[in-house]
Amino acid sequence: MKVTFLGTGTSQGIPVIGSMHPVCLSSNPKDKRLRVSVLIEWDNYAYVIDCGPDFRQQMLRAECHKIDGIIFTHEHADHTAGIDDIRPYFFRQGDIPIYAHKRVLGELERRFDYIFETENKYPGAPGVIKNEVKNESFKLGNLSVMPISGMHYKLQVFGYRFGDFAYLTDMKTIEEHELNKLQNLQVLVLNALREGEHISHFNLNEALEIIDWLQPKRAYLTHISHLLGFHDEVQQKLPDNVYLAYDNLQITL
Ligand SMILES: [Zn+2]
Ligand SMILES: [Zn+2]
Repeated sequence: MKVTFLGTGTSQGIPVIGSMHPVCLSSNPKDKRLRVSVLIEWDNYAYVIDCGPDFRQQMLRAECHKIDGIIFTHEHADHTAGIDDIRPYFFRQGDIPIYAHKRVLGELERRFDYIFETENKYPGAPGVIKNEVKNESFKLGNLSVMPISGMHYKLQVFGYRFGDFAYLTDMKTIEEHELNKLQNLQVLVLNALREGEHISHFNLNEALEIIDWLQPKRAYLTHISHLLGFHDEVQQKLPDNVYLAYDNLQITL
């Protein structure tokens, strides 16, 4: 399995438009973060988790020629706003399967009604195949995927476990019976916004506590705000098996 971090930034991305914060002005490529998403590839399959406003640029950058589906964590715009840009895949492959909680499918239908139109649909509009994710494992290609449910303040969000790899973002709280689905991981990806408290995201300490409790072989932090600091400085402060993810990072497992 190969995982490519397509984006590792929080909702505004880094740099933030118009910001004079030193991290936003950094020339280190690791301090430039598009909105969060990962590309997961195994055998001949390629799936992306979330489809934010940087989707087009991310798929060009990753030279991704086809996708087998998009799996959504939740409906926030930084995770969904790029769905119109699946058009090149749709033109080549036909309707693209999407996987999401029933509530998220409903939100997508409301915001992107023209994509879900059945009568008088504009021929250039992309098409999707809806797949509802419940809190039970489901098949993607030849792999069984386990949803992990958590809370993003008052909004339910899904993370996903693919074999020994798990990806959780935009979580603030997670119950123990859901955390127990994350035992014996090779790689855990978890959101860590900044050092300061936040109402709807784990801060750095909260993320490190969960990593310490779960003891995956390696952990990567994502959905990062410029307020967390410079990549290279933050990395030096992290425990041995914990890494700050950055855009274009690829891991194999
Ligand atoms: Zn987000
Ligand atoms: Zn969110």
